[in-house]
Amino acid sequence: MKIPFSPPFIDQAVIDSVMDTLRSKWITSGPKVKELEQEMLNLTGSRAAICVNSWTSGAIMMLKWFGVKEGDEVIVPAYSYCATALCVLHAGAKPVMVDVLDDFTIDPIKVRYAITERTKAILAVDIAGWPCNYNLLNAVIKDSAVTKMFYPETENQLKLGRILLISDAAHSIGATYGGVPAAQKSDIAIFSFHAVKNVTTAEGGCICLNLTDNFNVAEEYTYLKMYSLNGQTKDAFTKTMGSGWRYDILFNGLKINMPDICAAIGLAQLRQYKDLLLPVRKKIAYKYNNTFSLFSWFVPPPLSNDERESSYHLFPLRIRDITEEGRDQIIEYLSGKGITANVHFIPMPMLTYFKSIGYDIQDYPNSYRQYACEISLPIYPQLTNAEIDYIIVNVANAVKEQIYKTKMLKKAS
Ligand SMILES: *Cc1c(COP(=O)(O)O)cnc(C)c1O
Repeated sequence: MKIPFSPPFIDQAVIDSVMDTLRSKWITSGPKVKELEQEMLNLTGSRAAICVNSWTSGAIMMLKWFGVKEGDEVIVPAYSYCATALCVLHAGAKPVMVDVLDDFTIDPIKVRYAITERTKAILAVDIAGWPCNYNLLNAVIKDSAVTKMFYPETENQLKLGRILLISDAAHSIGATYGGVPAAQKSDIAIFSFHAVKNVTTAEGGCICLNLTDNFNVAEEYTYLKMYSLNGQTKDAFTKTMGSGWRYDILFNGLKINMPDICAAIGLAQLRQYKDLLLPVRKKIAYKYNNTFSLFSWFVPPPLSNDERESSYHLFPLRIRDITEEGRDQIIEYLSGKGITANVHFIPMPMLTYFKSIGYDIQDYPNSYRQYACEISLPIYPQLTNAEIDYIIVNVANAVKEQIYKTKMLKKAS
């Protein structure tokens, strides 16, 4: 059997949607992007949704929108994909990394201690689709001792009057918190539509706004659409709608708009997401969870509790007491059986670039602990029952072999 890690979901509806766009002769930003934004509003209940060409570019734009600049700090977890910190560097500011909890999410207490008078934003990552502790994070940023430390330097910072809470929702499309879509628990939630994510547009992202009433969300939407298109007053589609050729450039925006040909893929997936694609992911996650629960080496991942429910983007299997080398060998074993597994994530302080600018994994012991024992298993709607059983059997065998080896080694020494 050959089981890839996360192939995109491409059914007839996706193909039809793309063909429809091709035949319409309109392939860049236009009606399909508008429809995708509307679907994102329906799913998240957000006040505005702006599609862009990646999570990363969307995050850079929103940090710039908030006026984050050189000398500012943005708090991020050490345990994430590099983009979570790189967007902060691209905005000119300093990513202040903090350690994570045992559920992989940023530790709100560590966040509280990392706040300084330079802190402008927090980027909280819903790892594997599991929402961060947003109630605590909101309590931290709204605490009067913390708001007193906040020095607004731009109009948007004045309007908010406190640290901006951005959710890195790259994994968590469809996740819930306290009975509402998790996106509503932060000021801005940014989703990724990269090829491996739950919903994809090949490359793409969506910014969902749930800003306070001090902001005019309709105006912000118009402004951000312009920002994502060179600060241009009219997009190409509007110009074809008989609104005239003349346009203006109001400010130096970015060029990060999403094309319709990409939106067409995501649109066809999103229309089946809540009723079909997400429930299938959930079913697979619980099949893994219930079966592996029979083994004492299994550390269950966070999937759902009274407060939160995951989007089941990853199944982060953790193996009790395994070393990093032992974990690597299990992945090798699985690879030999045709199963592609992965690790989410190598903590950023372990990557060459972040090391070179002074980050050290020793400062983030729990990020290392989670990383060293983690294996992300294939989880996607196209997996057959036979494939899932095959993965389960081989994981169990691989771990048994590895634990046996480790015990022999310990005896020998
Ligand atoms: C995929 C991912 C991103 C980046 O998304 P892009 O759309 O590829 O820019 C950011 N954060 C996390 C946690 C991710 O997994």
